[in-house]
Amino acid sequence: MTIGQFREPTMTTIVEYTDRKRPENRYPVRIISPPRAGSCCFSDMEELGEPVEDGRWVFQYKRCKKCGFALRVILREIPDVALAAGLRRTLVKSFLRDTAG
Ligand SMILES: [Zn+2]
Repeated sequence: MTIGQFREPTMTTIVEYTDRKRPENRYPVRIISPPRAGSCCFSDMEELGEPVEDGRWVFQYKRCKKCGFALRVILREIPDVALAAGLRRTLVKSFLRDTAG
């Protein structure tokens, strides 16, 4: 099992993988992560914040408490129907906010 299988390189991410900077957790703005996961990363991962919807995906950032390795874990893909319903809810909510003043 490799932790790299969870990475989705085509999506935008706040994680910067580099070994030239110290690991840093500035979630939700930026996370500086070592480029590679260590053996500690499977047992010491902690979840950062809440699951986030981004387009068709629900994901969550996780970060290793020991070495600082971070990654974005895809929790699930949002089906088109749910996406459309969510969009409607968002529109209704903004409408209610506007009328409430
Ligand atoms: Zn680790």
